[in-house]
Amino acid sequence: MNDTSTSFDVIIVGGGPAGLCAAMYCGRGMLRAVLLERGLTGGELLNTEKIEDYPGFISILGPDLAEKMTEHAVHFGADIRTEDVLSIVRGQDGLFAVTCSSGTVFRAPAVILTAGGTPNRLGVPGELEFAGKGVSYCAVCDGAFFKGDTIAVIGGGDAAVEEADYPTRYASKVYIVHRRDAFRASRLVQERALANPKIEVVWNTKVLAMVGTERGLTHLDLENTVSGARSQLAVTGGFIFVGFTPNTGLVQQHFEHDPAGYILTNDRMETSIPGLFAAGDLRVQLTRQVTTAVGDATTAAIAVEKFLTARKSKG
Ligand SMILES: Cc1cc2nc3c(=O)[nH]c(=O)nc-3n(C[C@H](O)[C@H](O)[C@H](O)COP(=O)(O)OP(=O)(O)OC[C@H]3O[C@@H](n4cnc5c(N)ncnc54)[C@H](O)[C@@H]3O)c2cc1C
Repeated sequence: MNDTSTSFDVIIVGGGPAGLCAAMYCGRGMLRAVLLERGLTGGELLNTEKIEDYPGFISILGPDLAEKMTEHAVHFGADIRTEDVLSIVRGQDGLFAVTCSSGTVFRAPAVILTAGGTPNRLGVPGELEFAGKGVSYCAVCDGAFFKGDTIAVIGGGDAAVEEADYPTRYASKVYIVHRRDAFRASRLVQERALANPKIEVVWNTKVLAMVGTERGLTHLDLENTVSGARSQLAVTGGFIFVGFTPNTGLVQQHFEHDPAGYILTNDRMETSIPGLFAAGDLRVQLTRQVTTAVGDATTAAIAVEKFLTARKSKG
């Protein structure tokens, strides 16, 4: 194993919006910070076509915003390295060992974990082909692109039923396609959705395929889970909400989290492990957006500075 490292104040794991923002603040704060990203910087921005809800940009392509955020972080001295992080362990000496697949181990007294997460896929034909051309995993992000359209929301948990409400501001009709005969969502959330005249539930139905043309999604191929009957549902949008997996498995020690595995933090983005901060999509919070990711990261970077100062003064 190569052991590059006692020389860092803080290690940032993940180079999406949260990680890049944290690196920018750490650079401006003159901290010796390193950002470890396994792929290209930008995170989910690289999978997003248009972003119309990031202040300062009425409309910007995800990859363009990723490039601007990376340039900004580098301008203030971000040390960005391509590394696939395998594990994060806090030692008895209070230093974290961040081990990467290259064999390199980075050490620092503070880590900001910004490794995001991945929306669960439905795993049906057409899903990936039409991602960004009708298929979406975020109603708040993409609902406005479906003005006057008929769309479908797929799923039956809180996220699906709550998110179905949002696009009704734009779409003329929203079907919720659910494979069972009852939702798992809380009663209040269900009642609100079912009272919305634009929402209609297609019960006991699973999606077999998402189908379209080069211009985008045109319909869903469906199957009734009770009778086996097949049908088609004409929609231009398919919003998939079948869960989200936060990338928190890197942390090898116990940390407080919610039942879905999202990390619990306090208002300084501190986790239950001293010196481990979390920011962005992998944190327990009401919504997951670029704005919230960079907001979290700002708080985390400033809180790290204070944490390091307090640590030094304790000697
Ligand atoms: C299709 C889609 C469209 C969206 N549209 C919008 C929108 O219009 N507006 C909006 O505000 N939000 C939108 N979002 C949400 C937004 O993209 C996220 O909230 C935001 O990217 C979260 O930033 P993050 O830095 O927390 O995580 P991410 O963007 O997920 O970044 C995490 C980074 O960590 C890296 N990483 C993970 N594990 C490791 C590891 N082991 N080692 C090294 N690196 C690792 C990943 O490669 C990734 O680069 C959209 C999301 C999706 C999926």
